[in-house]
Amino acid sequence: MLTVFGSVALDTIRTTKVIRNALGGAATYAAISASYFADTGLIAVVGHDFPTRYQSILEKFVDTKGVVHAHGRTFRYDGSYDKTLSIRTTNKTELNVLKDFNPIVPEQYRKSEFVYLANNDPKQNTKILKEFDRVKFSMCDTIEFWISTKKSDVIKMMGSVDSVVINDEEAKLLTKTHNLIKAAKKIMEWGTKYVIIKKGEHGSLLFYDDIVFPSPAFSMENIVDPTGAGDSFAGGMIGYLSSKNSTKMTTIKEAAVYGNIMGSFAVEKYGVYGITRLRKRRIKTRFDKYRKMVHF
Ligand code: AMP
Repeated sequence: MLTVFGSVALDTIRTTKVIRNALGGAATYAAISASYFADTGLIAVVGHDFPTRYQSILEKFVDTKGVVHAHGRTFRYDGSYDKTLSIRTTNKTELNVLKDFNPIVPEQYRKSEFVYLANNDPKQNTKILKEFDRVKFSMCDTIEFWISTKKSDVIKMMGSVDSVVINDEEAKLLTKTHNLIKAAKKIMEWGTKYVIIKKGEHGSLLFYDDIVFPSPAFSMENIVDPTGAGDSFAGGMIGYLSSKNSTKMTTIKEAAVYGNIMGSFAVEKYGVYGITRLRKRRIKTRFDKYRKMVHF
């Protein structure tokens, strides 16, 4: 089984269109994406304002025993994209119920062998990881907000997991270098074995020891909303590893490709709808097409 912990949010996303109070959150995207590969449990907190229809969407894909309904407002995120949809500016991050959340791992999730700590308070992420009894592979992500407010906790969190997945811009910000190889090496020095740097429309780089495995993104002509692409990438990746119950290098490479595939579905529709209307068959077909595309 796989457990995902992290933010569930109400997002305001500004592209050419403005969408308010959309179902969002790093854990939402990651857990839904992972659910196409493995049974997924979600641990998160939402507020009294969290719509029942969003709870129903979560329930359709994942086990929600770990979703706590607290008093107060749901975590909110407000972000704008530039015309090219490649640069995102954060307008507002309201932690609300996430701020003092004291997460508890439901008994049924404690034996999860695969754990993904999606974007969230790094202190909470590090603490919750210790509550799992037999983790085989753990992975975490972070975002500018946490790097600028809790950098030393972010570094500690990265030292406590097997793998870090992070955006190129955030990797540069965190390690204060412009070179992604140097950035990955620095993150590995903090204790993690694998680093996956996501490069948006340019795909990803996987690092392990001296190995670098680049995978291009699945080329897309029509992108409407990049929100959640990174989280869908991570969910697809760890979901695939969990489905194979393996952490072999060849499986990790395939998992990174599935990450790119899930990210490509996420950007095709607004909000979570790029990944809520999929079939396993469509994912596999795109994976096979990708394999042909990169073969030479
Ligand atoms: P991505 O586009 O993959 O980087 O992820 C965007 C999602 O991350 C949005 O749905 C947000 O709700 C969520 N998010 C944004 N900022 C934070 C934060 N500081 N902590 C946790 N989740 C966040």
